[in-house]
Amino acid sequence: MTRRAHDVAYALAAGVPDPEMPMLTVADLGVLRSVHRDPSGCTVVTITPTYSGCPAMATIRADIENALRDNGFGAVRVDTVLSPAWSSDWITADGRRKLRENGYSPPGPAPARESGPIPLTLGLGSPTSRPGGTSVACPHCGSSAVRLLSEFSATACKALYRCRDCREPFDHVKEI
Ligand SMILES: [Zn+2]
Repeated sequence: MTRRAHDVAYALAAGVPDPEMPMLTVADLGVLRSVHRDPSGCTVVTITPTYSGCPAMATIRADIENALRDNGFGAVRVDTVLSPAWSSDWITADGRRKLRENGYSPPGPAPARESGPIPLTLGLGSPTSRPGGTSVACPHCGSSAVRLLSEFSATACKALYRCRDCREPFDHVKEI
């Protein structure tokens, strides 16, 4: 694969949006690992899924394949690599800014991990203090006077809060 073909394929894959938070691309999420061409000539895009069971990942895989095929990359495959497991810490600074600009509270630092299987801690934590000891702040006005309404918003990876100051509800992307 030429350098140029690699860069084009990488940029196409990197630009695919998350279907659930479309302001975020695959690059913003930090899930894109590599692009290469295998010996058979197939273009292989490797990603790390955000967390097992996330329904957005199937869509993202299909969208990456289509983006490359639509741009002249014939045979395309999306491989997943599970280790090291994805962490919300991998969401880029740009991605966090886009979340805030779109009314989402970005995740704080992810809880420290033990080696071995990753414990799924979605749903734990007191209303305003998340695992990792960070506070949730309102993305609309910056207030930290917020109240947890539901541990599960539209999707399992987000919790629904309401700001006590500006009264606006907002989604907090959970630390994982
Ligand atoms: Zn507010």
